[in-house]
Amino acid sequence: MDPLLIIALVVGAVVVVAVTVVVLRRRGLSAPERRPELPAGGSLSAGLAKTRRSIGDLLTDAFTRTLDEMTWTEIEDALVAADVGLATTAQVVAAARAAKPQDAAGAREAVRRELVAAIAGADRQLDLTGTPSVIIVVGVNGVGKTTTIAKIAHNLIADGKSVLLGAADTFRAAADSQLRTWANRVGAEIVAGESGGDPASVAFDSFAAAKSRGIDVVIIDTAGRLHSKANLMAELGKIAKVVAREAGRVDETLLVLDATTGQNGIAQARQFLDSVDVSGVVLTKMDGSAKGGVVVAIERELGIPVKLVGVGEAMDDLVGFEAEAFVEALLGET
Ligand code: GDP
Repeated sequence: MDPLLIIALVVGAVVVVAVTVVVLRRRGLSAPERRPELPAGGSLSAGLAKTRRSIGDLLTDAFTRTLDEMTWTEIEDALVAADVGLATTAQVVAAARAAKPQDAAGAREAVRRELVAAIAGADRQLDLTGTPSVIIVVGVNGVGKTTTIAKIAHNLIADGKSVLLGAADTFRAAADSQLRTWANRVGAEIVAGESGGDPASVAFDSFAAAKSRGIDVVIIDTAGRLHSKANLMAELGKIAKVVAREAGRVDETLLVLDATTGQNGIAQARQFLDSVDVSGVVLTKMDGSAKGGVVVAIERELGIPVKLVGVGEAMDDLVGFEAEAFVEALLGET
């Protein structure tokens, strides 16, 4: 064959391959085919290390000895120490005992099964079907609300969605600039109002801006403290009402709770539940808590699914909650 023809063929092939690679890359960036659900990142099991260590000390011994009355007491103590809650612990242990396990390994399996059953069946996916979808995020100051909003935005953007943050905490002077910093960092847009302005109108403007700009998801930050609790709850109720009227629906109202506060988070949650229709809980700071069992108490006592768990301060440290993996991590190795 003519050497010139061979060179021409090789050059042609290289050009075709290069063009194909560029086209595929572009497609990958502009229209990723990944699922919209959150998220990957850090791991639930790693985030539960502290809880596991504290209850593991109590349980590892119990699960490897001869099964007797003492074993059941130790199991009960460990679950209560992990903040599973008195009522749920009593139910789980009673049901596990009723299964009449023959040895300690059987007892562990029975407890595992009952704990999974206690929190199974909840729908934990974020439901983001609205256009734009609206997520309202509520919770008291300091629980990790702003960081959680940034993490959710980061994950959604990584999934190819566009995100707008609505800075509807007009009460706390620094809230706006903190959210703006995160918006810049993760690549989200932001709509903010005047300091001291009407939060419901910021929420309204955020939704309107997202709709007109064709943005996929609006995440609305809300105040975590006001002059009084009654004011705060009234304000949250108003934001939810205004957004629902405008958008037709609020896709998710997420309550952020701090796992290190354990059972106290339940009392905090009840106050929010009186004013807003919470669709899911985000439990933050699991990595710093020995009370990870509070997930069970939240779901059993409040009837709200834990949808996301914060397991660190980095943007990837927000993980979806899975009952089986959680219980396995909670009970630890034997
Ligand atoms: P906000 O007042 O509720 O908005 O709380 P921030 O988002 O400002 O968070 C308060 C502190 O908690 C910050 O130092 C965050 O980095 C930290 N934080 C938030 N989520 C987590 C988490 O899942 N794990 C850990 N270790 N720290 C977290």
